[in-house]
Amino acid sequence: MDRGGFVIDAEDMQKTYQSSTRALDGVSLKVRGGTVFALLGPNGAGKTTFVRIIATQLTPSGGSAKVLGHDVMKEARIVRRRIAVVPQEGRPHLLQTPFEHILTYLVCRGLDYGEARKRADAILASLNLTSYRNTICANLSGGLRQRVLIAMAMSSEADLLVLDEPTIGLDPVARLEVWNLVRKYVATGKTILLTTHYMDEAEQLADSLAIINKGKLVATGTPSEIKKRLDFTHSVTVKTVDEDLSGFEPFGRVSRAGTGTRVLTSQQGASDLASLCLKRGLEVSVRQVTLEDVYINEVGQPEPE
Ligand code: ADP
Repeated sequence: MDRGGFVIDAEDMQKTYQSSTRALDGVSLKVRGGTVFALLGPNGAGKTTFVRIIATQLTPSGGSAKVLGHDVMKEARIVRRRIAVVPQEGRPHLLQTPFEHILTYLVCRGLDYGEARKRADAILASLNLTSYRNTICANLSGGLRQRVLIAMAMSSEADLLVLDEPTIGLDPVARLEVWNLVRKYVATGKTILLTTHYMDEAEQLADSLAIINKGKLVATGTPSEIKKRLDFTHSVTVKTVDEDLSGFEPFGRVSRAGTGTRVLTSQQGASDLASLCLKRGLEVSVRQVTLEDVYINEVGQPEPE
């Protein structure tokens, strides 16, 4: 077991597509065993490119990567046997049931039929999917279909699970259910690499994460280490877009945030600014900095959904 060691060790990873798009420009990352690692970044940042190289689906243009101690280029077959992947574009077959999906997947991975049946039922039970065992996927919600794909990958008991945007397009309840699956899997000592552009998802789920933008690593560490990159502890949002921003500038770093203005500041600054705004009758909210604040600082405003 590679627990405690590095399950992923990527060094100076580069990828230039034939279109001459430079999708990865020297990304180095290490992921410890038994943890959830999130790759966070805006659309087009290079997240999928990175995970596809790690999953041996794509050849890098430069650099090297080891997965579970094996080179993704020279030992791709060994790596493939020890990982499982749920790609972003993955969809279940609409006329098959969850049980049939898992059974077929396990038989394709080399399990004998009897063992695969037992394991399929066990995973459905442990992920609370038994009541949908024999329902064709056409009759399941989007959230359940995604859980079926994840259950399928998890049934492999692979040491590393790669999930590319596992909660994209899901409603809040379905998202929480996917998060629960992720937590359960990692509790068994396995490792998960996931990509997301939801900052709360990375903050809630990831033991450590990397923010990438335009093919480059902009920050890496635990969520609290990354938050410490900001020189500020508090974020104040004032509901005003028309006002001249110069009045806010003495308090800290000022940016537009939707229908308001966000000021990153110290605890004292937050207190002073909030009382000033309240005196002026402005709507104001104060909170401690989140990953979103770091992200906006490093990457810019998130794109609208
Ligand atoms: P993300 O997953 O962060 O959204 P991707 O890795 O999918 O980013 O894409 C990174 C960049 O590479 C983007 O500019 C994208 O358009 C480009 N790209 C991705 N796949 C291909 C491909 N097969 N051929 C050409 N360009 C690609």
